[in-house]
Amino acid sequence: MESVDVIVIGAGFAGATAARDSALAGNSVLVLEGRDRPGGRTWYRQFDGRDQKLEFGGTWIAPTRQPFVRAEIERYGLDLFQSPNYSQFGWGIGGAVSHERFPFPPEEWAALERVIAKIDTDSDRVQLFDVPLGQPELADLDIPFTDYVHALNLPARVSDFILAWPTFYFGAYPDKLSTLHVLSWNKGFGSAVGWYLLLVDKFLGGTGVLVEKILSEAPLDIRYGVDVRSIDDDGQRVVVTDADGTQFSARNVIVTAPINTWERISFTPGLPSSHQAMSVEKQAGESVKVWALVPKQDDFFFGAGMHTTFKWLASEYTTADGTYLVGFASAEADLDGNDIEAVTRAVQEYLPGVPVLAVDFHDWNNDQFSNGTWMAYKPGQVIAHSAALQVPHGRVYFGNSDLASGWAGWIDGAIESGARVAAQSNAALAESSVVAAG
Ligand SMILES: Cc1cc2nc3c(=O)[nH]c(=O)nc-3n(C[C@H](O)[C@H](O)[C@H](O)COP(=O)(O)OP(=O)(O)OC[C@H]3O[C@@H](n4cnc5c(N)ncnc54)[C@H](O)[C@@H]3O)c2cc1C
Repeated sequence: MESVDVIVIGAGFAGATAARDSALAGNSVLVLEGRDRPGGRTWYRQFDGRDQKLEFGGTWIAPTRQPFVRAEIERYGLDLFQSPNYSQFGWGIGGAVSHERFPFPPEEWAALERVIAKIDTDSDRVQLFDVPLGQPELADLDIPFTDYVHALNLPARVSDFILAWPTFYFGAYPDKLSTLHVLSWNKGFGSAVGWYLLLVDKFLGGTGVLVEKILSEAPLDIRYGVDVRSIDDDGQRVVVTDADGTQFSARNVIVTAPINTWERISFTPGLPSSHQAMSVEKQAGESVKVWALVPKQDDFFFGAGMHTTFKWLASEYTTADGTYLVGFASAEADLDGNDIEAVTRAVQEYLPGVPVLAVDFHDWNNDQFSNGTWMAYKPGQVIAHSAALQVPHGRVYFGNSDLASGWAGWIDGAIESGARVAAQSNAALAESSVVAAG
């Protein structure tokens, strides 16, 4: 049986960071990745077999507010570029789609200001990065986001507008979404306006550029197509077994598989209660991200809505082929991203008469290595489980964007969490080496 100091399961951003930091501390590291590529829930690939490459998973970063991804950009000297400025708008709120730049009449401005002020004030209570999100004094906020908003008795358009943002940002309908998790992102952006203005930066050359940089800085043995199915910790060593029955052994194992996939792996001893609960309950993120090519549009479009199929629809690129739109639908819409007629109907809710020439998407919700999109804590889960999820289980450590203390659900959170588990594991290995030497 092959034997190393550390096995890292998963080569997404958390796994890459954990593997690099474990190797830089002097450990031999084996990375076992189920897919045939690194990057996990990020994937920069060709659209519909054409020359144009697009991001089918994680894409946008806000480096001014996301310290972990910013540090990696500086470390490797990476270049970014930005999404376009929009000049055409669509708002699916209050039961219709309207196209004003600002979709509220003067008599609703005060209500909009009131809810934004409340969100900003409540999010100031959340501490990011240094402690897990489940801070006990915030238990009153770990409630459905719909309850939080409806308690404010807002006009229908304002209520729809406020509910629409987390619906597309989390890929979860807001009755399934913890207000505390929503407010943690508001704290991250620094204000409600930041959700709209700050998330514009993208990696030049794609997210894969950074993953590859991280994976190539230190000596790593990376194996692709290895589907881990069991992890057995006897207290001295951990044995990892894949779907073919091949076994590998390590002093420590770092699991970066997403929460929604933990049920596929058999753990001995069995998982602690919070890990077990989350593996069964799952997190709520089930977005459907779709790219649609339409004839060249003169204006860059941005649309958001609560009752529209796409909760977010925006133009991202115009090339000789036409204009590429990106849309996010929540699972309730039951949209098949490969069904060009269904996508056309969804696009035309915002852009009547605009034909769709081609579509492409990746079905993360039916992908066995993600079984969902990105972290969206359900009501009650943050307080009950987020702190416990960061505690190692014997020699098995859990790191993933889902478990971050800052931007849980983001590339930044994946890097934060990967670095944290590597530091925990490195410290334990160093300590046990000292004890053994003594
Ligand atoms: C459609 C979509 C859009 C998104 N948009 C954004 C965005 O704009 N900005 C942003 O910051 N974030 C975004 N995200 C979220 C972001 O991509 C993720 O939070 C982040 O990439 C997760 O990284 P990770 O390493 O924690 O997990 P993952 O990337 O999921 O990595 C885990 C790895 O473990 C592997 N694995 C799982 N099970 C096994 C097993 N049994 N054996 C072996 N390997 C296994 C997986 O194949 C995967 O490679 C988006 C995600 C999606 C899906």
